[in-house]
Amino acid sequence: MKKILLVDESPATLSALTIEIKRHMSNTEILAASTYREANNIIRHNQNQISAAIVNTELPDCEEGQGAMLASSHNIATIVLNKNENNVLKHLMTKKNILDNISTANPNFIAYAVDFVKKVLRNYKESVLLVDDSKLFRDAFKNDLHKLGFHVIEAIDGKEAFDIMASPQGESISVVLTDYNMPNMDGIELTMRLRERFQKDTLAILAISATEDVDALTQFIKAGANDFISKPHQFEELNVRINANLDVLELFKEAKNLANRDFLTGAYNRRYFFEASSAILNKNHRKNAPIAVATVDIDNFKNINDTYGHDIGDIAIKEVVTVLHKSLRKSDLVARFGGEEFCILLEDISFENTLTLFDKLRKNFKFNDIELKDIIVNYTVSIGISYGRSDDIDEMLKVSDDALYEAKSRGKDTVILHQIQEK
Ligand code: GH3
Ligand code: MG
Ligand code: MG
Repeated sequence: MKKILLVDESPATLSALTIEIKRHMSNTEILAASTYREANNIIRHNQNQISAAIVNTELPDCEEGQGAMLASSHNIATIVLNKNENNVLKHLMTKKNILDNISTANPNFIAYAVDFVKKVLRNYKESVLLVDDSKLFRDAFKNDLHKLGFHVIEAIDGKEAFDIMASPQGESISVVLTDYNMPNMDGIELTMRLRERFQKDTLAILAISATEDVDALTQFIKAGANDFISKPHQFEELNVRINANLDVLELFKEAKNLANRDFLTGAYNRRYFFEASSAILNKNHRKNAPIAVATVDIDNFKNINDTYGHDIGDIAIKEVVTVLHKSLRKSDLVARFGGEEFCILLEDISFENTLTLFDKLRKNFKFNDIELKDIIVNYTVSIGISYGRSDDIDEMLKVSDDALYEAKSRGKDTVILHQIQEK
């Protein structure tokens, strides 16, 4: 739960900000104050727990801008609302955690302020790799990147940056900000080499370049950079370009999710299961390691639909994913294959552990009551498993399906495991 502080004398502004935040950000708690004194109390009662603040410069019980200074001095990323720009505010903007200054004369100021907060909260999860041989420039960028909420990792040349990206830490980095001229490896070569590993849908590369150096810029873009930031940079430009590129990465992620996931349950779909399983099967086949494929099917599901209706049926189907995710590892591949049937692919698991795990899972379903408004829905599942060394997903699925059929014919609420014959 993210806490957001709103400080404004006007109840209308407070309520408009609250509505807009609730509409665009889930999992947020709003702390609203209309005076400096209230804001001060809230901050004291929520030490280090407030992620961002929107604060009007004019409050009834303090000097202009003091409320914003208060939030900023408690390390809260703060956005300032004011009637008109003046010298007091220019001074405010140099403070560490004051990110933007929005005029309430702008008819869109509510949406603008909330969008800014949303980006700052997103940025807390993002890491930026900053590559420049000049400590002076690095420090200037680092300062502003911290202001925008980013976690910053530094590298002094292309080589060090490449090594960081090739290490496990590289997985967590979504933006690389790189200078051109550097010893050992320059920014263009770094960009080229990174693009061999990271496509534009997972990593944004931004070149830092002196604006007169048009030639380098063209080469950067050809090498695979998404965008550039001029040097020396302006805070505003850095903010707009990095956030625009992160927006694009987010869109790619959403599009991928739409294509790969089942709409009702959020589990992977059948198409994705086949796509992802082939790499997993190949890897385990090379290691001569066994894998397990399980098919889970709700027993007598038609009865649930017939008794309670289709909507409750849908809830029961969604519950399968909740129960599965509680018992399985994050790396296990779970997909909805159709109606009330799910397939799971597991690696690095012994024969005995497979049996134990799925029998526990069967019991988890049996003793799981879905408590709805005035009814309790309960169902059992049957599980068919294929286990063994195979590089053929169709074979694994066929054998697990046969095992499921056997589980059903033995009276349901049953787990049956068939081993794949070694060839
Ligand atoms: P068994 O124990 O042999 O598995 O019997 P069953 O009734 O669970 O299975 P059957 O395959 O006979 O029926 C599955 C039903 O699931 C039929 C279909 O109308 C229903 N169904 C399929 N997709 C959905 C869905 O997305 N939502 C809901 N509510 N029902 C669905
Ligand atoms: Mg069924
Ligand atoms: Mg079925």
